[in-house]
Amino acid sequence: MAAALITGALVLAACGSSSSHAVAPTTARKLSTTAAPSTTRTTRASSTTSSTAPNAPSTATAPAPPPTATPPPPPASGTGSLAAVAGKTIVIDAGHNGGNAAHASEISRPIFIGTGYRACDTTGTETNGGYTEHEYTFDVAVRVQALLAAAGAHVVMTRTDDTGVGPCIDQRAAIGNQAHAIVGISIHADGGPASGRGFCVYMPALTPGYTDDIYAASHRLGVDLRDAYQSIAGIPPADYVCSAGLTEANNYGGLNLSNVPKVLFETANMRNATDASLLVLPSIRQRIAAGIAAGLARYLAG
Ligand SMILES: [Zn+2]
Repeated sequence: MAAALITGALVLAACGSSSSHAVAPTTARKLSTTAAPSTTRTTRASSTTSSTAPNAPSTATAPAPPPTATPPPPPASGTGSLAAVAGKTIVIDAGHNGGNAAHASEISRPIFIGTGYRACDTTGTETNGGYTEHEYTFDVAVRVQALLAAAGAHVVMTRTDDTGVGPCIDQRAAIGNQAHAIVGISIHADGGPASGRGFCVYMPALTPGYTDDIYAASHRLGVDLRDAYQSIAGIPPADYVCSAGLTEANNYGGLNLSNVPKVLFETANMRNATDASLLVLPSIRQRIAAGIAAGLARYLAG
């Protein structure tokens, strides 16, 4: 139980906000259950330093925002074509789970992720109004699943309801590996500072023996997802983390242990009143799902 106690703090930590731990590189390689060759392409791998600066919060002369923000106008670019997903196997990972909070010791079990240990899973965050991240991520994941399936994709979900416990982060990666998925995404919403809003795409950092097989492709995915999501979902890049909506991380088991090009996507900040007022609206969640699906399609279109 000592280990569970030590890692207990991670259970309550909001996802995406934890710092990267400096852990000595390991030479151990992840278990490769799939011998499938990497489909890594490097031609469009892009840096995280776009010239577009994150939007700064308006503070000076603007009137105080209304308590419930007006949803953004319909996107000018439409929802984009999903044709490229036809026939592809795609893993959709809805962050957290509805039963996690009632099983704290079970989900705090430490899991080795190559760069250190992380809890099996966490409870996630919620809005001030009590809309939980696990409910949100599952709702969005189901919407993405429907859009992709309608376009001919084979969608694999890491969880199929919002009442279970886990699965642990290593299993979330293994599900995609075993399905031989061509691409994957973990859907989350951040528990960041109330003063900051927007989305951030966490791409796997280069960890030899773990992410070298997915690094370049995951970065291309990150850029494609960022670009599609920004135009379709109507949510801006984060103004409190990331650079133009993108960053790297080496402390996510679901990325480090994946053999499938993948990113962890903090779609908005649940602790920010403006973002929260949008996330509770089904129409906005549909737009969020459309942005995610279009980002995956853009990546697959190459
Ligand atoms: Zn999360």
